[in-house]
Amino acid sequence: MIRVSTKEKIVKAKKLFYMTALVPLLIIFGFFAWFLTIMFEGESPSLILEPKPEFLSQPQEFSLKISDEKRGLRLIIVSVKQNGMDMILTQEVFPFEGLLNAKGVHLYEKKFILDPASLKLAQGSLDLHVQARDYSRRGGGDGNLSMLRHTIILDSIPPSIRAVSRMHNINVGGSGLVIYQTSSDTASSGLFVDDVFYPGFPDSNNSPKGIHHCYFALPHNTNTHPKIRLWARDKAGNCIETSFYYHIRKKTFRRDKMEISDRFIESMLPYFSSFHPIDPDESNIKNFMKINNVLREENDKILYGLRQNTCAERLWEGPWLRQKNSATRAQFADHRLYYYKGEKVDEKFHLGVDLASLANSIVEASNHGRVIYADRLGIYGLTVVLDHGQGLSSVYGHLSRIDVTLGQEVKKGAPLGLTGQTGLAGGDHLHFSIMVNGVYVNPIEWWDNNWIEDNINKKFALVK
Ligand SMILES: [Zn+2]
Repeated sequence: MIRVSTKEKIVKAKKLFYMTALVPLLIIFGFFAWFLTIMFEGESPSLILEPKPEFLSQPQEFSLKISDEKRGLRLIIVSVKQNGMDMILTQEVFPFEGLLNAKGVHLYEKKFILDPASLKLAQGSLDLHVQARDYSRRGGGDGNLSMLRHTIILDSIPPSIRAVSRMHNINVGGSGLVIYQTSSDTASSGLFVDDVFYPGFPDSNNSPKGIHHCYFALPHNTNTHPKIRLWARDKAGNCIETSFYYHIRKKTFRRDKMEISDRFIESMLPYFSSFHPIDPDESNIKNFMKINNVLREENDKILYGLRQNTCAERLWEGPWLRQKNSATRAQFADHRLYYYKGEKVDEKFHLGVDLASLANSIVEASNHGRVIYADRLGIYGLTVVLDHGQGLSSVYGHLSRIDVTLGQEVKKGAPLGLTGQTGLAGGDHLHFSIMVNGVYVNPIEWWDNNWIEDNINKKFALVK
């Protein structure tokens, strides 16, 4: 017979007590603790407002995303505050639904428009307010609060811009300069010729406030009535356009018949086949057309892109140099008609001047500048491009040798390399171009001291 001691009996009774009373109590206590942490959770709703502009000039659409994963959203208020006034744009109260608001709103997305005119907002600072509360029992039962305040400057008044220079006589295919003044809120300005933009540059420190100047081009193929106007934009995005007086001088350009022979094409192909796909089974003329069109377009795109590398300071001084002792073989904007076996096969405009002298003559920098390209460039062969600042650049093509490196600063007259006939060239010559913000212009003007005096220097003298 097993005898149970009193001590063992006590232990058993204690165990029973724990099992029947304390454990359920603990479970109940645990449940309440869990329930309370849920009821009183402290996580505020998350607010995302997009966009967050610094300035406002016209009706602006905003998108709002508010979420509260735990207890769900109770209420949101979107309002605008200005000069002590509080205008509510959106207010929503969400019902409590399901056990612990499980079926309530946990994610709210809305787009709304802030229209300064319809709200009769004044110019200047205003605050966009977003508030959201959830269904937590915190905050004295009001729930966790999230607030977002975004300050915006309302500015719907455009900047002002006016021309200061006079006498803008511009040749088709030529260059122009306009000096203008803008109001102090201007963030960017320049000039449009039809839909091509030419950026303006602020003048030196000792000229009156807001004075800018802008070099622009009238392309050789400009239509009869190009629309030229000054343009400015402020930080808020308000834009203004103003016209100014100008006179356009029409120009006629030469026509030039170019005979393309098989011998010429065959002499070209080996040079191009090293870097441009040439199909040996294709006819000579088809390969030529590919070079003269596809490759030319690629090359011109690169040249046009170089305008981005211009520096904001003026680097040049006085008239541009023309290649020494050279004869003009082709003029600016010659309309070239390509003939093959008596038939017209292509046409292009020659947007530079071909200057020929002795083979392998030294090519000099036409003005002070910085090398922004020094490499082979398809149809232009070995090519150097100089930036002269403020959108002006010069191009030297068909070189047989390049003696400068990218980024190098060069003085007017400094040797850049030697003339040659690399690329699409029939003989040793320099293909020389000047560009204004990537648009080809007639170099004749920039070679001419009188033209620079009348069209550039006299205009700057006005504001000094
Ligand atoms: Zn040329």
